[in-house]
Amino acid sequence: MMIHDGHVHTPFCPHGSKDSFIKYCETAISHKLTGITFAEHAPLPRSFVDPTPLQDSGMSWDDLYTYLKEVRALKKEYKGHLNIYVGLEVDYIEGFEKETTDFLNEIGPSLDDSILSVHFLKLGTEYVCIDYSPDVFHYACNQLGSTEAVYELYYQTVLKSVKSNLGHYKPNRIGHMTLVRKFQKKFPIDRSFQTETSSILAEIKKKGYELDYNGAGYIKPLCREPYPYDSIIEETIKRNIPLVYGSDAHQASSLLNGYTELHPKSILAKPNPLRD
Ligand SMILES: [Zn+2]
Ligand SMILES: [Zn+2]
Repeated sequence: MMIHDGHVHTPFCPHGSKDSFIKYCETAISHKLTGITFAEHAPLPRSFVDPTPLQDSGMSWDDLYTYLKEVRALKKEYKGHLNIYVGLEVDYIEGFEKETTDFLNEIGPSLDDSILSVHFLKLGTEYVCIDYSPDVFHYACNQLGSTEAVYELYYQTVLKSVKSNLGHYKPNRIGHMTLVRKFQKKFPIDRSFQTETSSILAEIKKKGYELDYNGAGYIKPLCREPYPYDSIIEETIKRNIPLVYGSDAHQASSLLNGYTELHPKSILAKPNPLRD
């Protein structure tokens, strides 16, 4: 099996487990993975106020350089056994494009791989972390008037993230593009969003990006499907968009999350290198 897990969190994640890097790497080797991308949540823009109760959505700024140093050291240590990519999961936050670009310009040269994800939605003057809890999701539905309106805004924001100009070091992989469905079993919708998801795929293709084929959704009790789900994957394959598997593991035992539910033939053996 040639599997690279392109979306793995680390002990630096403030809302994840404290499993050590070694534990992640040894577990990856025991699963016969060929490589992993450590893609910790990048620190959020300094002027952005994290709306989650513990403000723990991203890595702390104080940890950033230690994180990069430790992953670089592991990469050397495991050379020949496990291909370790130094990466980050970077948030696309509407209205914070300039700060995000400055951040990427500074940190981009140190990265092998990275993911651009939408977790925060702008509701008027406030932001919500849409995958935080069913209650927060429900709050967003009330604010916008319907569940469908939340979906619409999520997909619009993902489309903006793909189109956004975040400079030379913009990540070339779009994270969990259907994360808005994390609580779908509790908040069903009454229409298909195929037009919206197709526009996103068309733009991803145009830009030459990859898609995070994320197994975590399958594990979530209110979701039970990968991000993105099967019909989008079929379209992705038709459009010839590269898919990179991601477990989105926040603990070592979650490596390979949902993998058996995916369509393995369509998955790249490893991510494409970041453009240089
Ligand atoms: Zn996380
Ligand atoms: Zn994420």
